[in-house]
Amino acid sequence: MSQKPTAYEIAMQGLEQVAKLMRLSDEAVGYLRTPQRLLVVEIPLRMDDGSLRFFTGYRAQHNSALGPVKGGTRLHPEETMDDVKALSFWMSIKNALANIPAGGAKGGIAVDPSTLSPGELERLCRRYIQAILPLIGPQVDIPGPDIGTPQQVMAWFTDEYERLTGRHEPAAFAGKPPILGGSAGRDRATGLGLIFSMEKILEMRGENLEGKKVVIQGYGNLGSHASRFFVEKGAVVTGISDVHGGIYNPKGLDIKAAFETITRTGGIKGLKDGDPLTNQELLELPCDLLVPCALQSQITKENADKIKTRYVLEGANGPTTPEAEDILMDKNICVIPDIVANVGGAVVAYFELVQDLYLYSWDEAEVFAKLKQIMRKTADEVCSIAAEKNVRLRHAAWMSALGKIITAMRLRGWIKH
Ligand code: NAD
Repeated sequence: MSQKPTAYEIAMQGLEQVAKLMRLSDEAVGYLRTPQRLLVVEIPLRMDDGSLRFFTGYRAQHNSALGPVKGGTRLHPEETMDDVKALSFWMSIKNALANIPAGGAKGGIAVDPSTLSPGELERLCRRYIQAILPLIGPQVDIPGPDIGTPQQVMAWFTDEYERLTGRHEPAAFAGKPPILGGSAGRDRATGLGLIFSMEKILEMRGENLEGKKVVIQGYGNLGSHASRFFVEKGAVVTGISDVHGGIYNPKGLDIKAAFETITRTGGIKGLKDGDPLTNQELLELPCDLLVPCALQSQITKENADKIKTRYVLEGANGPTTPEAEDILMDKNICVIPDIVANVGGAVVAYFELVQDLYLYSWDEAEVFAKLKQIMRKTADEVCSIAAEKNVRLRHAAWMSALGKIITAMRLRGWIKH
């Protein structure tokens, strides 16, 4: 049996640490440890060849003290209930931190979508919505996108929900195509949010992005958009990578060319204005900001000592392991944690809900102005708590988020203290 802790165990370890710092009551911790509702569904799918297969789907609703629950939907072959539970807990924290009046949820189907025909995928998505229908809706639980759920999938989800309920209800889902009620700017929200939080944190330290050397691991949706915003702010992007490796130019890469290449080919192969290097070498480059935007657990106790940056800005979820963070802190490297840095996507998903409830859409400038305000306020709040309590930014962010959920639970009478 594998000794590696599961995602939920990791989330609970984090909760225990912060619960100690906050001296939380057993009642409060008990509620936070326990998702309110878990659903497992077996989805029958008629394949194109006439055979019948079953796929397992999940939905976890963590805590609704602050409002209806919200969170993405993953289509991934290794999806499990443990994963979905952990991610629903993370969403409760992210939403609370950014003052989004919502709790956390997450869902998924254990499937590799690339092995299905378009028709099979559409039928599977519609069947999933039929299966979880009693538990979702704009006032209850609003599923959004995640890995494997692009806008087309969210459009099928929305259509199936409306077909079954017999009413038009765009607010029931996040991440829809704009023509079906999706928000302007959603595709760039997380990347721009990263920049807004970094700018605010630099500002509080008497610095700005002008001339800062930036290295980005993972040049996908998030990393590529973030790179353009960094350049717009006067920073110099010296290194980028994708799953196959990276490229480095200490004088700065041509980000316009890189963005065109990724848009055209889906990768960064063929870029010629720098030297090739591996992802491990890229993480160890000297820079001002290291921005992991690929996968979890990239900065570990094995490589943390070799990291030569001043700031780690976490675009990906969980790119720094807890042991690595201790090493970085000893080296005086400031880690801006994922829940502070990459909450922009969740914020704009909330904006999408608000716009859909009003049947009115904001233009991109309005969306980004509101996003900026929330990202800056969140960064400010977290830095103040960190300074006041003398804790790292990650713990300060959790303390802020958990404090709000606990206050709401107490006021509702769920817990006494
Ligand atoms: P994406 O699939 O578009 O891009 C991922 C990038 O990482 C690609 O360039 C891929 O080639 C690269 N990559 C994959 N495996 C790698 C490896 N082993 N080493 C180095 N690079 C590797 O995904 P995305 O939407 O850009 O998301 C990236 C990360 O940010 C994920 O952790 C995601 O959970 C997190 N995140 C994204 C959003 C969002 O709105 N896009 C919001 C919050 C968090």
